[in-house]
Amino acid sequence: MASGFTFSGPTTVSFRGGAGAATAPRGSARRRGYNGAWDMLSKEWRRLHPFCAECAHRGRERRCDLVDHMIPLHDRPDLRLNAGNLWALCKPCHDTVKRDLEAEARAGADGVAILPLWCLHPERRPHGLAYTSKVNADGRTSGST
Ligand SMILES: [Zn+2]
Repeated sequence: MASGFTFSGPTTVSFRGGAGAATAPRGSARRRGYNGAWDMLSKEWRRLHPFCAECAHRGRERRCDLVDHMIPLHDRPDLRLNAGNLWALCKPCHDTVKRDLEAEARAGADGVAILPLWCLHPERRPHGLAYTSKVNADGRTSGST
């Protein structure tokens, strides 16, 4: 399903001896799958994709805050380290546009499997770019309710 781009790095990342990996506390984050390999992959992803992909769809240039799984980790834990399932977002876009896209996908016939298409190709979304994004040009969010 990964179309259009490839991840040039190794698909299995060896982080033996990596700083932090051995000392990270075992907590909920680790149980959700955010371990050393994810830290490394997400860091590299943000280096390659420093700007929010959704803001770019909207003609804005804003640095990303996080690397998101287009198909949520909850639904497809096997895609945790699959670069074809990643996109970089700012937090406002993650908390508004992505949230709404997930809700719409879950209600649709294709389920969350449609999300990578919608995330990367807004013209394929049922409502195009008309999903709420409260990011202003200066990057601040407007209104908390
Ligand atoms: Zn954004």
